[in-house]
Amino acid sequence: MGASVRFAAGVLAIGALGALASGCGSVDARSVLSRTVGRPPAVHGTDRFTVVGTGDFLLHSVLIEQAASDARGHGYDFMPMLAQLKALISGADLAVCHLETPVGSPSGPFRGYPEFNSPPQIVKAIRRLGYDTCSTASNHAIDQGERGVRRTLDALDRSGIGHAGTARSAREAEKIDMRDVKGVRVAHLSYTYGTNGIPKADDWLVNDTLKSARILADAARAKSAGAEVVAVSLHWGEEYQHAPTAAQRRLAKRLLRSQDVDLILGDHVHVVQPFERFNGKWVAYGMGNQVANPSANAEATHEGLVARFTFGRDAEGRWRAQPSFVPTLVRSGPPIRLRTLTADSAERGAVERTERVVRSLGFDVPIAPDAVIRPPSAPPNGEASRVTPLSRP
Ligand SMILES: [Zn+2]
Repeated sequence: MGASVRFAAGVLAIGALGALASGCGSVDARSVLSRTVGRPPAVHGTDRFTVVGTGDFLLHSVLIEQAASDARGHGYDFMPMLAQLKALISGADLAVCHLETPVGSPSGPFRGYPEFNSPPQIVKAIRRLGYDTCSTASNHAIDQGERGVRRTLDALDRSGIGHAGTARSAREAEKIDMRDVKGVRVAHLSYTYGTNGIPKADDWLVNDTLKSARILADAARAKSAGAEVVAVSLHWGEEYQHAPTAAQRRLAKRLLRSQDVDLILGDHVHVVQPFERFNGKWVAYGMGNQVANPSANAEATHEGLVARFTFGRDAEGRWRAQPSFVPTLVRSGPPIRLRTLTADSAERGAVERTERVVRSLGFDVPIAPDAVIRPPSAPPNGEASRVTPLSRP
C-alpha cells in the first residue's frame, strides 16, 4: 500500500510541474520534483522495458508426436519445434505465455483434443525459450480436473515460471503474480470466459469470469500492492473470427478506461485479431495460436503473432506502451516447425494477411524490427544460454 500511495503522490506532483519538465524525460521531471520538495527521488527502476505476449499453446496430438520424434526416443522435446522464437522471447524484459492446456504426469498418457493432457516437457521448452510467466485460465484449464491444475502449476513452479489464472488453493487464488521487471513491478492477471461446461470442484480453481467488476477489483488490488503496470490476459472471443466481438470491445474499453489496467493480451480464437487503443493503452484482442495442429481447421489458424510492447513514461509519469508485432507461422513440415516472420520474409502472404488484420481497426501497428525477431548473432538452433529469470518479489 505504502509504495502505491507514494507513487500516486509523485505522479500528481510531476503533473503539476509539467511545464518545467516539458521536453525532458520523466527522470528529469523526478529530479525537478526532488529538488523542489527537498527529498531524494523515488526509485522506480528503469524508464523503459519491453513486454511480449504470445498465443495459445494448444498441444494437439500431432504436436505431441512431433515432440516425441524430436526427442529421438527420450521422452518429448518441444524445443526444435519452437526454437526460432527464442531470440524474441528471451530478449524481452517480460515474456508472457499462454498455456491453454493442463499437463499430465511425465509418463503420460497424453491426449490432444478434446480433453487435453499435455506432456509436462512443454514447460521445459517454455523455460528455455525465456518466458517469465504464463496465463493458465482457459476453457481447457480443468480438462483434467483439479489434478491437472495442480500438475500444471507444480511444473511451472519447478521451472521458475510464474503463473496466473488457476490455483491450487483459495489462498493461492488471492495471490497476485507480481513480476520485477528491471525494478518496475508489473502484475499479471488471467481470466477465461468459461471451462467448456466442466464444473469446478472449488470456486478458486480457475478465474472463469469476464466480469469487469471482478477484473477491475483484482487490478486495483494489484496497484495497491505496489504494481506500477497491470497486464491482463483474457481467454475470450469467437473462435476463428478475426473481428473482435462487440463484447470483447466493450470489456477492453471498460478495463482500459480504468487507471488500474494498462495492457490486455487476448487468446482463444485461434486466429489473429486486431490491436486497439483506448485511453492511451493497448489491447491485442487475439494473438492466434502459438502452436497447434497445422493440418486442422482453417489455414488462418497456422498464422499467429507475438505482440510486443515497449513501455516508457509519458510526460505525466504514467507508463504507456508503443506496440509492434511479429507474424508467426506453423509449418506443417514434416517436421512441424514454428516460424517467426520478418517484414520481408518469403512468406509474404502470411505477413500481409496478419498485417491487414492487426491494423483493421485503424491503428498502424508496425512489425517489429528484424534485429529483434532474429538478431544476426542468434544461433539457428536456439540453443544459446538462456536469460536469468526475473526474480519474484
Ligand atoms: Zn480456448
